[in-house]
This record gives sequence, C-alpha cells and structure tokens, in this order.
Amino acid sequence: MIEFKNVEKKYANGTTALQNINLKIEQGEFVAVIGLSGAGKSTLIRCINRMHDITEGQLKVDEVDVAKLKGKQIRQFRRRIGMIFQSFNLVTRTTVIKNVMVSFVPDLPLWRKLTGIFTKEQKIKALEALDKVGILDKAFIRVDQLSGGQQQRVALARTLAQNPDIILADEPIASLDPVTSKLVMDDFKRINKDMNISVIMNIHHVEIALEYCDRIIGIRKGAVVFDGESSKVTQEI
Ligand code: ADP
Ligand code: ADP
Repeated sequence: MIEFKNVEKKYANGTTALQNINLKIEQGEFVAVIGLSGAGKSTLIRCINRMHDITEGQLKVDEVDVAKLKGKQIRQFRRRIGMIFQSFNLVTRTTVIKNVMVSFVPDLPLWRKLTGIFTKEQKIKALEALDKVGILDKAFIRVDQLSGGQQQRVALARTLAQNPDIILADEPIASLDPVTSKLVMDDFKRINKDMNISVIMNIHHVEIALEYCDRIIGIRKGAVVFDGESSKVTQEI
C-alpha cells in the first residue's frame, strides 16, 4: 500500500507543487492522476520512488517510510518500483533484448550494462518479459527500428523484468498516436490485472484515463480535488 499523509512538496525555488496530500493506494490498483499542466501530477508520482523528496508529512510504501531511506536502501527500494517515461528512455542504438537486460544489473554504469555478459537465465527472463507485452519477435532488432508504441512496450518489458510491485508511469502515451495509445493502455491494463501490479499513471488525456483506469485522482494546483471511481468523474478537474 502507498500512503500519503499530509504530504507537501516545495521545490528549492519556493514553488509549492503539492500541498496537504492524503491518499491510500492499495496493492493492485490501476490509478490515473489527471489535471492540467503544472498541477503537480509528475511531482506526485516522482515522490513515490524518491526521485523527489517530500518537504512535509509522511509517505509510506508498504510500511516503509520513504523519506528515511538512505543510499543503498533507496536503490533496493526502487527495484520494486518500475518507472515508465513519456520519452521511453531506451538506448536506441542497441537491441531490444539488451535494453531489457539492463534491468538485471541496475548498479553498473550504462556502458558496462550494455557490454555485460548475461546468463542464459537472464536472457530467458528478458524474452519472457518481451512476450508479455507482445513483442517477442522484436528481441534482436535495434530499438531505433521500432515504432513509438513498440518502444514503449520495450520500456514496459524492461520494467517487468525487474518483477516490480508497482509501476509508475509519467505520461506514458503522451507521444503516441491515439490508436497506439490504446494498444499500450491495453498492455498496462493486462499487466495490472494479470500480475496484480499497482499502476499509477499521469495522463492528460482524460477520456483514455476514464476508459482504462479504475480510480481517478484529480489534481489542481497541488491539491487533490477528486478521488474516486472513473465512472464518478463529472466535474472538470
Ligand atoms: P504536472 O506534472 O501536473 O504538469 P509538475 O509536477 O511537473 O506538474 O509541476 C508542478 C509545479 O511544480 C509546477 O508549477 C512546476 O512549474 C513546478 N516544478 C516542477 N518541477 C520543478 C523544479 N524542478 N523546480 C521548481 N519547480 C518545479
Ligand atoms: P486532450 O488533452 O487529449 O485534449 P481531453 O480532450 O480528454 O484530452 O481533455 C482536455 C482537457 O479537458 C483535460 O485536460 C481536462 O482538464 C478537461 N476534461 C475533459 N474531460 C473531462 C472530464 N470528464 N473530467 C474532468 N476534466 C475533463
């Protein structure tokens, strides 16, 4: 469970990006965070894995007080939390399978990850992850030969290969066309339902959020202004 208690996030320049956030997200939920640009969606998501530090209140992930983690503990904690970005964050000039296998050696510098020698078990695990998102046939192709939707699936496979409990996705479909967006959302939904992985996603496309996600958290000016089932969203957020 992810629990925010009176969480505030103020950036160094004085901007208050989040204020008085109180939320509980149970294991296995599929949550969309919606709101206008600048509302605080990205900040909210990035506090969960300590990409940002909160400045007030308490944030717990499965009873772990996130603010109290140090150095190596943060890296271990992040192993359980996958992160997906709008821009995929892949190494495009190498193969799909290598991009997935980097998740097995998180502590190495990137060049060592990419030139690393992987075991047969690791290769099998990577292929399994690619199979789960329907791009097994692309395993040995260079990432730069794939479409945007396929690249986002590689990123999803990379995340799945680390066996996460939670996937945080920061505008995962923002750079995809509408048809591809839905295919990627189908993958998220399947992963969420079949593997009971919590998915917390920022998404500015409200219709897609309402269609796919079970719970909607609406943010305005750093505060939660809606929290409930997607079918109950009526007002502008
Ligand atoms: P959203 O994801 O909803 O677009 P963000 O979480 O990115 O919103 O931003 C929330 C607020 O915090 C905005 O006012 C933004 O300008 C500000 N902000 C975001 N990142 C930083 C930063 N690194 N330093 C200062 N202010 C920031
Ligand atoms: P897009 O950003 O792709 O144009 P939409 O057309 O779905 O996405 O929504 C545009 C904006 O209108 C959203 O950012 C949101 O603020 C608002 N909006 C649309 N529908 C809803 C709704 N059902 N509830 C709350 N806000 C909505």
